[in-house]
Amino acid sequence: MTATEFTYIFIATLALNSLAKLWLARRHLAHIAAHRAAVPEAFCEKIQLADHQKAADYTSAKTRFTMFSMLFDIVLLLSFTLAGGIQFVAEVCQGWFNAPLAQGVATIVIVLLLSSLLEAPLNLYRTFVIEARFGFNKTTLRLYLIDAVKGLLLAAILGLPLLSGVLWLMERMGTYWWLYVWLVWVVFNLLILFIYPTFIAPLFNKFTPLQDEAMEARIEALLSRCGFATQGLFVMDGSKRSAHGNAYFTGFGKTKRIVFFDTLLERLSGNEVEAVLAHELGHFKRRHVMKRIAITFAMSLAFLWLLGLLMQTGWFYQGLGVTTPTTALALLLFFMVLPTFSFLLHPLLSAYSRKHEFEADNYAASQTAPADLVNALVKMYQDNAATLTPDPLYSSFYDSHPPAVVRIAHLQAQ
Ligand SMILES: [Zn+2]
Repeated sequence: MTATEFTYIFIATLALNSLAKLWLARRHLAHIAAHRAAVPEAFCEKIQLADHQKAADYTSAKTRFTMFSMLFDIVLLLSFTLAGGIQFVAEVCQGWFNAPLAQGVATIVIVLLLSSLLEAPLNLYRTFVIEARFGFNKTTLRLYLIDAVKGLLLAAILGLPLLSGVLWLMERMGTYWWLYVWLVWVVFNLLILFIYPTFIAPLFNKFTPLQDEAMEARIEALLSRCGFATQGLFVMDGSKRSAHGNAYFTGFGKTKRIVFFDTLLERLSGNEVEAVLAHELGHFKRRHVMKRIAITFAMSLAFLWLLGLLMQTGWFYQGLGVTTPTTALALLLFFMVLPTFSFLLHPLLSAYSRKHEFEADNYAASQTAPADLVNALVKMYQDNAATLTPDPLYSSFYDSHPPAVVRIAHLQAQ
C-alpha cells in the first residue's frame, strides 16, 4: 500500500463513520421529539408528564452536544495527523532532548496535554451549562479545577513510568515486543483495579461505612444468602459533584467493596436498595466482571500485535502526516486513529453488555422481588432524566443497558 492510498482509506473511514454517527444521533433526536407529548403507556402511572419531558429535553441537549463535540474531535484528529500537528510537536521535542526515549515521552505527553486543553472548554460547557441547566451539576469551578489537577498528577505518577517502560520495551525487545508490552499492560491494569478502591477513589471522594444498621442487616443477609464476601459497604459523597445516583462494586480479591452514592440511598426504599444490590451481585455471580476484563485484555493483545505490523511499514506514518517515523510516533498515531477504525466494535460490545444486564436482572429477580427492582429502576430513570423512548437503532448501537421499556417488561415477565 502507498501512503496516499492509506490517507484516502483513513479519510473515507472517518467520513463514513462520522456520517453514520450523525445519522444515528438525528434519528435519536427525532424519535425522542415524536414521543415527547405523552408518557409511554407502561410508565403512565409511575412517571409524570413533566418528568418525561425533562428527560426528553435533557437527552436531546446531550445528544446535540455529542454531535458538536464529534465534529470538534474530527478537526482535532485531522490537525494532529494529516495537517502535521504531531510531526511539528515531534520536531520541537527533538530540539529539546537528545535521548530518543525522552523525545518520545515528551512528544506523547505534549500531544495529550494539548488535546485535553483544547477539549477543556467542551467539558466545562457540559458540566456548567448542560448539567447545570437541568439541575444536575453540584460541582463548583474550584472543585472542578482541583479535580483536574489531581487527575493530572495521578496521570503523571502512574502514566509516565508506564509510558517510558512501554517505549523502552518497544525499542529493545525485537519482533515480539508486543507480547512484553501486553504483559506489562495486563499487570498494570490489575494493579490499578486492586489499588483503585483504597488509594485512587478516596483522592476524589469520601467513603464512609454504611451507618444505617437496619439497612446493613438487610444487606448482610442478602450477601450471605448469595454467598458473597466483601470488605465492606460504603457510602460515597457523590452529591458533592452531581445529583446523578448509582451503586457499584469495585476492586477484586481482598479489596472488593460495595459503594452506594449518597444520592441513591436517599431516594430508594430498603427493598429497592436490596434489589439494586442483587442486580450488582448478579454481575459478579455470572462472572461478568471477569469476562469483561478478559475481553479487554484479548483486544489489547490483538491491537498491539497489529501495531507491531503497521509500524514496520512506511505508509502508516506518511499516510497520517508523519515524515520521521519513530516508535513513539507509531504508538501515538495508532491509538489516535484506532477509534476511527474500530467503530464497528461499538454495537458488538454494547450488545454483549446488554446481554449481561439481562442476566444480572434475572439473578436479582431470583433473589429479591422483581417489582422492587422495577420500582428502583423507574426512580433512577426519573432522577437521572434518562429518556424512556430512545431510538431503537441508536440504542442498539450505543447503549450498555437495555431500553427501560424492554428491561422492565423483561423483569415483569419473571
Ligand atoms: Zn448492571
